[in-house]
Amino acid sequence: MDARKIRVCPRCGSSKIQETKTSVNGWLVPTTYYCEEEGCGYSGPVFVEIDAEEAETLKRMMNGEAEA
Ligand SMILES: [Zn+2]
Repeated sequence: MDARKIRVCPRCGSSKIQETKTSVNGWLVPTTYYCEEEGCGYSGPVFVEIDAEEAETLKRMMNGEAEA
């Protein structure tokens, strides 16, 4: 079994969440994540990691029946 895990946005469920590594003059700062999904704009220290198959289900639930 290949349980592939992906990162999704905790706000909208999009898999377009990106990791941001900020380095300020060599100081270690907490990794933050931001969502590229239009209209979401989530940015924060946490993301949700779920199975790839679950992601589709989650996204459908969050978006209702509206499929862009
Ligand atoms: Zn989002």
